[in-house]
Amino acid sequence: MRCPSCGYQESKVVDSRSADDGASIRRRRECLQCGTRFTTYERLAENPILVIKADGSSEVFNREKLMRGLLIACAKRPITPEKIDGLITSIESELRSSQRNEIKSRDLGDLVLARLATLDDVAYIRFASVYKDFQNVEEFSEALKELG
Ligand SMILES: [Zn+2]
Repeated sequence: MRCPSCGYQESKVVDSRSADDGASIRRRRECLQCGTRFTTYERLAENPILVIKADGSSEVFNREKLMRGLLIACAKRPITPEKIDGLITSIESELRSSQRNEIKSRDLGDLVLARLATLDDVAYIRFASVYKDFQNVEEFSEALKELG
């Protein structure tokens, strides 16, 4: 957020409030160099991540949906919702830091599985059976082998 007066990069937020019915945040900022105050509007989820499904259709990456799937996979396992939340956050930040704005649902499943494998074998298998869409027993056995 460059200062419109002097172009300096850094400013501090002096006031924040939601605008556009919560779709964006209006911020009053003060330039750290010259003290000029200016207003920015920051859209929330400005760059939604698209999940491309096997049939080619797509949907916006949905934390809650992934959370529900993971809660089912982790049912009665020693994994706290906080851990699952952290797992989703780490996937989200990996996607954002790699500047990807779309991912195949299968690749997303792989990102989840890579993390679940370090947490809990049972949750891994449960999630894998749903998301990897196993075609046959061999494929499922391969996934089991990957567990080591
Ligand atoms: Zn300035």
